[in-house]
Amino acid sequence: MTEKLYFNDSYVKECDARINKITERGIILDKTIFYASGGGQPGDSGIITVNNMEYRVLDTVKENEDVLQIMDGKFDDLREGDHCHCQLDWEKRYNHMKFHTAIHLIDGMVNKMPDYEGLITGSQIYDDRARVDFSMENFSTETAQEIINKVNEVIKEDHDIEIKYMPGEEAIKIPNLSRTAPGRELLNNLDVVRIIEIVGIDEQADGGTHVRNTTELGQISLQKIENKGKRNKRLYFTLVSY
Ligand SMILES: [Zn+2]
Repeated sequence: MTEKLYFNDSYVKECDARINKITERGIILDKTIFYASGGGQPGDSGIITVNNMEYRVLDTVKENEDVLQIMDGKFDDLREGDHCHCQLDWEKRYNHMKFHTAIHLIDGMVNKMPDYEGLITGSQIYDDRARVDFSMENFSTETAQEIINKVNEVIKEDHDIEIKYMPGEEAIKIPNLSRTAPGRELLNNLDVVRIIEIVGIDEQADGGTHVRNTTELGQISLQKIENKGKRNKRLYFTLVSY
């Protein structure tokens, strides 16, 4: 199983590793800083150096318990057992982290609004924006703007974000730790659950990478809302500094 260094510290930008396996599409390392795409957060890209030669990582995905670095171009001179140095495309990843924390802020806040509880059904992060899906009939630009404004106030309040671990059987007893049916099913099957706590705001079982403090987000801005069906509305937002 690949050791996922980003689980305990999302700010690790470089590491040394060993190539455990080479497949048609890429390589599997003993440990990695490249996030394997999942939970609405895209995979990472970057550079792997072996014997002073640079190889480009295009994307990272899960392969069973391992992380597969999908490689660009030729890498057939690499061998299992080779030692390598990994460097992350940090700017891109850091934006993913900001978007991910912002989505949890939106989720945490919307779930405290009595009329909206349980109405967020999904989310997706892109390099330059993110999207949150609502199961709502009447969702207006005004509602979306109100949500964004409230999140911007919370961002300024300076909340730390902490990573915690908890036995699965304990986690399942905490209401709202996972807000989707597949998520709750997963909690049931996990020995240890990783939890992202935005102190005082939100707590969620999560495998993603997050910033350490809400102030790192700057501010977010509403891009647009989309009507995808009777009870399916989408909100797109971006980072103001982006
Ligand atoms: Zn998440």
